[in-house]
Amino acid sequence: MLRGRRFMNKYIPTIGLEIHAELKTVTKMFCHSKNDPDEERPNVNVCPVCMAHPGTLPVINYEAVKHVLKVGVAVSGELADFTEFDRKNYFYPDIPKGYQLSQYKYPLVKGGTLNGVAITRVHLEEDTATSLHEEGDYSLVDFNRAGVPLMELVTEPVIHSAKEAGDFARELQLLLRYLGASDANMEKGEMRVEANISVNQESGIKNQELGTKVEVKNLNSFRAVERAVEYETNRQAEILESGLEVEQETRGWDETKQKTFSQRAKEESHDYRYFPDPDLPKLVLSEIPEFSSDAIRRSLPELPWEMRKRYLAVYQMRPDAVEVFLQDEFLRAMFEGTAKLAQGDLKLIRLIGNYIVSDIVGLLRDADVHGRALNFKTDGFIRLMQMVKKGLVSSRGAKDILKEMYLSGNDPEKIAQQKKLLQKSDAGELKSIVKEIISSNPKVANDYKSGKESALQFLVGQGMKASSGSANPEVLREILLESLK
Ligand code: MN
Repeated sequence: MLRGRRFMNKYIPTIGLEIHAELKTVTKMFCHSKNDPDEERPNVNVCPVCMAHPGTLPVINYEAVKHVLKVGVAVSGELADFTEFDRKNYFYPDIPKGYQLSQYKYPLVKGGTLNGVAITRVHLEEDTATSLHEEGDYSLVDFNRAGVPLMELVTEPVIHSAKEAGDFARELQLLLRYLGASDANMEKGEMRVEANISVNQESGIKNQELGTKVEVKNLNSFRAVERAVEYETNRQAEILESGLEVEQETRGWDETKQKTFSQRAKEESHDYRYFPDPDLPKLVLSEIPEFSSDAIRRSLPELPWEMRKRYLAVYQMRPDAVEVFLQDEFLRAMFEGTAKLAQGDLKLIRLIGNYIVSDIVGLLRDADVHGRALNFKTDGFIRLMQMVKKGLVSSRGAKDILKEMYLSGNDPEKIAQQKKLLQKSDAGELKSIVKEIISSNPKVANDYKSGKESALQFLVGQGMKASSGSANPEVLREILLESLK
C-alpha cells in the first residue's frame, strides 16, 4: 500500500494534522461580545471578559459546545461524559489573560474517523486576538477575534502522503459547512491547518517507528498543506541521507518561496502548565438531554459522504460531477430542484446533472451571462432536457438554447423554433431523404452491406447535409440501418 508513495525512493512521510476552525456562533466562547468574522473596524466586538479585565467571569457558550458534539457524532467519535476547561499558560500580547482557555485532559470528543483517517481528539478553546506587526517599531492588537470559539481537531499520525493530508482537510471543511459549524474559509483564517511531519523508511514505519517530527504552521490553503508535506519530505530525507539528524522544531510556510522555514524549537506541553480553570463549571454532559449522542445524531443533516454515496448510487453520476455538487450549494440546489421534477426518470436526471456541471458551470463563468444566473427557471430547464432526451434538439443546439434562455428568459421551445434548432424525427420525411442518399451513393451503400462499418457514418453525414442539419441523427441512423438490411 505504501508503494508508489515513496519519496527519494526510500523515505515515506508520516503526517498528523492539527486543524483549528472558528465556530459560527452569535456570541464569543465565554462572553456576550459578538462573534463577527466580517467586522472590519478593530476592537469593536469586545467587553471586559474578552479583554481580560480583573474580576470578570466567563460563561460557556452552549452553541459552541453543540457544534463540536455534532462534529464528534458525525465522525463516530466518543462524546465525553465529563469535561472541563483548562488554562494553557503563556505570554503574548494577543492573549490578554496570560492564558488561553482550552481543554487538556478531558476533550469533548475522543476518537472517530474521517476520510479513513483516525482522529485522536476534538476539543473546544478560544481564539486569540489578531496582532498586526506594522512597519517600524510597534505592533497593533485587534481584540475582535479574542475569545471567538475555536474547535481544534487532532488526527493520529497515520497519513502517508501529501494528497491524503489535503483530502482530509477538504473533507473536514465540507463537514463543517454541512453542519453549519463553521464557514471554514482557509483564506480568511476560519480554518487553519498545522501538519506534524516526519519521515522514515518503509521498514521503520512498519515497525511503528516514526522519525523526528517537525511542526509546520500557517498553512492557509489545501495546496499549501500538500506542498508543505512534499517540501518537508524531501528536506528531511536529504538531511537523513547526508547522515545528519532532523531537528524537532516549529517551522512556518513561506507561500512566496514555497518553502518551510525554521521558527522556533518546539515547546513541550508541560511548558504551558495546564490546570483546570477554577472560574468555569465542570460539564457533565449526560445531565444535559440535548447533548446526548442520540439527540445530537437526530439533529444532523445529510452528511457530505452520505450525499456522495447517494449521488453515486441513486443517480449513478460521474465521481467528478458528484464532487462539483458537493462543493457548490448553488449548483446543488439547482440540480435537486430540477431533478425533483424528473419524477425518477434516471436518464433525464443524469442529463440534468451533466448539463449543470458542464454547460451551466461554463455559462456562469461566461462574462455575457455572469450575474444573470437568476434567470434560471427549473421548469424551462427541465423542458429543454426533455427535448434533448427525446432527440428533438441536438446537444450542440441545446447549448445555444440554454445560453439564450439565460439571456432572454424565453422558453426553450420558442428559442428552438426561432433558431431553427428543432431536429426532424418524422420517419416519413426522413425515409425519403434516406432513399435518395442510398440511390445516389450506391457504392458506399454496398461497402456497408459487405461489412465496412465506417460507410454508415458517411451516409449519416450525407443525410444530415441533405436535411440542412435539421435531421435527428439517431433517427436517421436507425432508418438507414433498416433500409440497408
Ligand atoms: Mn489550539
